[in-house]
Amino acid sequence: MNPPTQTPTEPLAARIQQVQEATRGVTARYPRSYILDCIKSDRFPEEMWKALGEFGLLGLSVPEACGGSGGGVVEIVALGEALGLAGIPTLFLVVTGLGRVPIIRHGTAEQIAQFVTPTCDGSMKLCFAITEPDAGTNSFNMSTLATRSEDGWILNGQKVFISGARDADYMLVVARTQKASEVKYRTEGISLFVVDMKTPGITLRLLNVQVETAERQYQVFFDDVRLPEAALIGEAGKGAKLMFEGLNAERLLAAAAALGIGEYALAKAVDYAKQRKPFGKPIGSYQAVQHRLALAKAELEAARLMTYHAAERFDAGEDAGTQANMAKLLASRAALDAVEAAIQTHGGYAFDRDYDIITLWPMARLIAIAPVNNEMLLNYIGEHVLGLPKSY
Ligand SMILES: Cc1cc2nc3c(=O)[nH]c(=O)nc-3n(C[C@H](O)[C@H](O)[C@H](O)COP(=O)(O)OP(=O)(O)OC[C@H]3O[C@@H](n4cnc5c(N)ncnc54)[C@H](O)[C@@H]3O)c2cc1C
Repeated sequence: MNPPTQTPTEPLAARIQQVQEATRGVTARYPRSYILDCIKSDRFPEEMWKALGEFGLLGLSVPEACGGSGGGVVEIVALGEALGLAGIPTLFLVVTGLGRVPIIRHGTAEQIAQFVTPTCDGSMKLCFAITEPDAGTNSFNMSTLATRSEDGWILNGQKVFISGARDADYMLVVARTQKASEVKYRTEGISLFVVDMKTPGITLRLLNVQVETAERQYQVFFDDVRLPEAALIGEAGKGAKLMFEGLNAERLLAAAAALGIGEYALAKAVDYAKQRKPFGKPIGSYQAVQHRLALAKAELEAARLMTYHAAERFDAGEDAGTQANMAKLLASRAALDAVEAAIQTHGGYAFDRDYDIITLWPMARLIAIAPVNNEMLLNYIGEHVLGLPKSY
């Protein structure tokens, strides 16, 4: 269960609208063409990120007492959706939204001031590292290990696919403080550390990943990285529970990005379907085209309802695990259907990069795999909702 983040005084639609109007103020200045330019020149969209900070948007879901703008997961999901609607789904928002949760809930006042407050105005960026090459989806099989030193911890191991590692100031690292062989349950002996990316012993290797986002992915090596005691969030060995508290927020932010990118693709497809007339009538009048777009719209709307329903539950302090998992599953599938429909509608032009249609596909496809693959969500629903036996 989550502690309630706030008692909302306004209806859901108004809360979403407020955030999305403010976001449009930023995305109008920094549209998708700006992001594509940043990607081409391999630089982080610093100006847009700062503007999101100045508008108070990056501080959403962070209590005002922690230097944030208040609001809950509903508000930060609305931001994520609005960025997607502008064609700029942002992985940093997903990982920041996840990473801040355990620090706000279990960090000391100093840790919150150092690692959370500066993320709210965009002056500091936080990335998140759990995935390891050998463990993959089976995160508890991780082998990155932090051992005690006289004044803190020494970290050794590696992570992979870490989004934005080059541009981040800090990384929330999930590591073992006890080897898997030394604990009774694999969820034990896991700890969370906030690691300063400038610490000696950290090296990055850029991965050749093809997704049109400003954040690139890195393999990250930790070689005797010395961490101060203050890098540990909460109690040593109890990090798995803390991490789970952030995962629902992460899933909902991934769902939000999917909803946004799906609607973005659909809007482009509808525009095109109204103009294109190879047989003299707009192709959008043919049911083969129209119905596919209509179905994509219905699927996105249904996934959207589930996403905000889960976000409201989370903010109310209710258990939102099932709803968050369902939301991410449905939103990623709806986004993919919408992008597929947009590709089919554009015919051969979908493959011309200048139309910027095929370029949407990797992002939509990614959300079915990361931050957690859809099979794991189906496993959750199968086991925890339907009561079926665990298969793995
Ligand atoms: C662009 C990108 C950005 C990313 N950003 C980050 C990040 O910032 N931080 C981070 O820590 N990680 C990040 N990741 C990693 C991502 O979360 C993992 O790739 C993902 O969780 C899957 O792990 P894997 O690739 O090792 O797949 P594997 O574990 O090898 O699984 C492969 C496939 O097998 C199937 N499968 C696996 N286990 C099961 C099961 N139990 N039941 C049924 N089917 C199963 C699924 O279809 C799955 O897709 C990112 C990945 C990408 C591609």
